[in-house]
Amino acid sequence: MRLILLGAPGAGKGTQAEVICNALNIPAISTGNILREAKANKTALGLEAASYMDSGKLVPDEVVINILKERLKEDDCKDGFILDGFPRTVPQAEALDKMGVVIDRVVDIEVPDEKIMARLSGRRVCEKCGSSYHVEYKPTKVEGVCDRCGGKTVQRKDDSPEIIKDRLEVYHAQTEPLKDYYKKTGKLVIVEGQEEVADTSALTLKAVEA
Ligand code: AMP
Repeated sequence: MRLILLGAPGAGKGTQAEVICNALNIPAISTGNILREAKANKTALGLEAASYMDSGKLVPDEVVINILKERLKEDDCKDGFILDGFPRTVPQAEALDKMGVVIDRVVDIEVPDEKIMARLSGRRVCEKCGSSYHVEYKPTKVEGVCDRCGGKTVQRKDDSPEIIKDRLEVYHAQTEPLKDYYKKTGKLVIVEGQEEVADTSALTLKAVEA
């Protein structure tokens, strides 16, 4: 099964990617995570991507397309995968088609902008293992300490209110047109993000397995 998860930043794509990954035993590929790792390791790619990421802009298409091309060559992708955060522009979707990647389903998780704002501005992530929390809706047991690995939880640089606004603008202008792109292929399923993560997961799995 080859899946794409679409949705605004903070719509819960990462969480749902993990749920599907566990249910179907296929890898979840997040270009955002690959870029963040490169940035943390100060590789040439990370240094190039940093200024785009920190200001809420998209990293240039050719850079992310190459990252994805290389990642899909890895052995664990041969029986399928979940793309979380790619494609984010029409040229990226076209590049995927040109690579000959046949997508089975595209799940778009829809959450209104006001909710995204509240979710992302309260989000905290573990520096070490990447686990995600929320100061109000999903706090860590000990403030600032990851429940899973004991690492330090921090606010992502791009989760500040001004940058979230920019990221939402970028999403509406550049990523939302992908809904039409995939609607035409008949592969798009829309899932309304629910208050409870488990309820969204149930809908997402139903959309994937239908
Ligand atoms: P994410 O964790 O998916 O929200 O991604 C964090 C940041 O990484 C984004 O705001 C972009 O700067 C960059 N990024 C991740 N995936 C892509 C992509 N497919 N195209 C362009 N930039 C991306």
